[in-house]
Amino acid sequence: MKTYAITGGIGSGKSTLKHWFEKHNIPTLDADQIAREQVQPGQPALAAIAKTFGADFMLKDGHLDREALRQKIFSDQESKTTLESILHPLIRQATAKKLQVLADEGHTIAVVEIPLLIETGKPDYIDKVILSDCSPSQQIARVQRRSHWRYEDIANVMKQQTARKDRYQHADIIIDTSADLTSVELQLQHHFPKL
Ligand code: ATP
Repeated sequence: MKTYAITGGIGSGKSTLKHWFEKHNIPTLDADQIAREQVQPGQPALAAIAKTFGADFMLKDGHLDREALRQKIFSDQESKTTLESILHPLIRQATAKKLQVLADEGHTIAVVEIPLLIETGKPDYIDKVILSDCSPSQQIARVQRRSHWRYEDIANVMKQQTARKDRYQHADIIIDTSADLTSVELQLQHHFPKL
């Protein structure tokens, strides 16, 4: 099975690309979703986070207080690194397992959306990287249109992500998402003519 990652900055069109593959019956996974699964009650990641960060980051119902943790790591780089060292190996392990299931089922292609692939390094199970690319001003406009985030919050996230020009060297396929959806589909069809 050949495994493709979709990556790119916030609001650059990653999910839109993923949906195109789903429309063509290609199985997809989402690293953010897998990360959420890892911190459900009963999962080892949650126990490790509770042990490392303390009970202040747990809700009364036993779930992770995601907002409290988000604020903590936003203002504290060391905590961010610690959290990542707990979560990333578990996310990778879980993703590898899910991909193995898809391979065993006989799928020949699978696609994983990994927003922070460039920041965290390409996992071994990814063969090719698809980069979703548009201008920073388009990213901001699209996130604002979709979620009404404040400009400063979007800019802050973008500042923590790899700069646009530095992403290209990590990409095997670049999809220009700045044009309309028809153009995006044509580009995907060009790269995946058999789908
Ligand atoms: P996030 O990083 O926030 O998860 P994303 O990279 O997955 O975002 P999408 O959710 O695919 O990006 O796109 C962001 C917004 O921009 C969505 O509302 C989507 O419908 C819109 N969008 C994506 N691609 C295009 C396009 N080519 N033309 C117009 N709008 C688009």
